[in-house]
Amino acid sequence: MGLVERNSHRWRRDLAVTACCAAAVAEADRTGDPGQRAARLIDCLGVLRSTHGAGSAAALDMRALRRGLRQGLTPLLPIEGEGEDPLGEVRLVDSDGLLCDAVEDLGREHFVSQQALMEYWPWARLRAEQEEQQLYSEIRRLPPEDYAKVRELLASHPVAEQGVLWEKWGGLWGRFGFFEPVSSWPWCNAAGWCFPCPVCAWPMRAQPAGGGVFAVSCDAHLLEGAQYTCRQDRGGSGPPVLEGGGCSAGRVEGFPAAGDYLAVSRTVWRYLTLPGRMEFAIRDALTDIAGLEVFMYPEGDRYDLRIMATDPLVAREWRVDAKAWRSFDALADALLERPVLGAAVPLIIVVPHRRRSDLPRLRERLAGRPDLEVMTDKDFVTTVLRWCRAEL
Ligand SMILES: [Zn+2]
Repeated sequence: MGLVERNSHRWRRDLAVTACCAAAVAEADRTGDPGQRAARLIDCLGVLRSTHGAGSAAALDMRALRRGLRQGLTPLLPIEGEGEDPLGEVRLVDSDGLLCDAVEDLGREHFVSQQALMEYWPWARLRAEQEEQQLYSEIRRLPPEDYAKVRELLASHPVAEQGVLWEKWGGLWGRFGFFEPVSSWPWCNAAGWCFPCPVCAWPMRAQPAGGGVFAVSCDAHLLEGAQYTCRQDRGGSGPPVLEGGGCSAGRVEGFPAAGDYLAVSRTVWRYLTLPGRMEFAIRDALTDIAGLEVFMYPEGDRYDLRIMATDPLVAREWRVDAKAWRSFDALADALLERPVLGAAVPLIIVVPHRRRSDLPRLRERLAGRPDLEVMTDKDFVTTVLRWCRAEL
């Protein structure tokens, strides 16, 4: 497939994902005027059809759109080549008609610029900014030591009381709009309490499951066992106790979803906190190993982690950037847009180990870029340790 065709496919697919997200928002919105809601869905359907070839467009009607949002996007996305679309299984609206958390991330990662969208879209009211880029541009201007401090704080303390954050951030506090009051987020409020994920420390989603019971789980770490239930406790004064969960991280302490508690926004969590925690975990795993030196943010935001094997017999260098994007296709697109790095050392893109089954497709997409490698966080640490131990 030529570059132009691929780009045009990418454009059509981004537009289709955007239309699906917008349709999901309209479908889940029960507060507005039903006529207006139907008009929005019809607009989305029109945009979606424009991304398909004549054959598959004909099969796309309102029923297919509604079913696809609830059961998986496969029938809604334009087809490219062979094989399953990795977003095919994604659901945007749950069985209760509520919006799934995937919408926000996918909408952002497959973002189609407002201006381009206006050509297709009569009522475009989608987000106008690309937040990951904006986040980095806000902190890129900091002196190196402040940059490193901000990155570490966003990873280590994504939720805390305002007083604690003031103390930790010192003079840097208040310069960035990274935090929001937890009390303004109904989605993580379990009868007045909020629970941090044992893996990433960010608030877990709390969904009423009937009978005063809440299902509590982390959007990113559900499959790693960060899923619990809790029962509303009318008599007690402390947070209810979480039950179940496969996380080995021990008991999770709730805190009041009110008052002074602040948490990083969802965008900051996805693009700074999650990759930051992976990077610091790698740093910690490789620190104090004889013959290894580890540097965080050695060249500002060019890449995040440099590891040097210093023994002259096995001297080598690794450069690492961690990414926790939900959509690997959008990640591949973003990486392919980067200029080719002239450095002798390839940049290793590290992704969470739980996504290992998606790696072959990401590798395939990046096949033409010898300056980029992809690996899971766990495999990366093993590779480095093996390199040193095998040779020393
Ligand atoms: Zn988590």
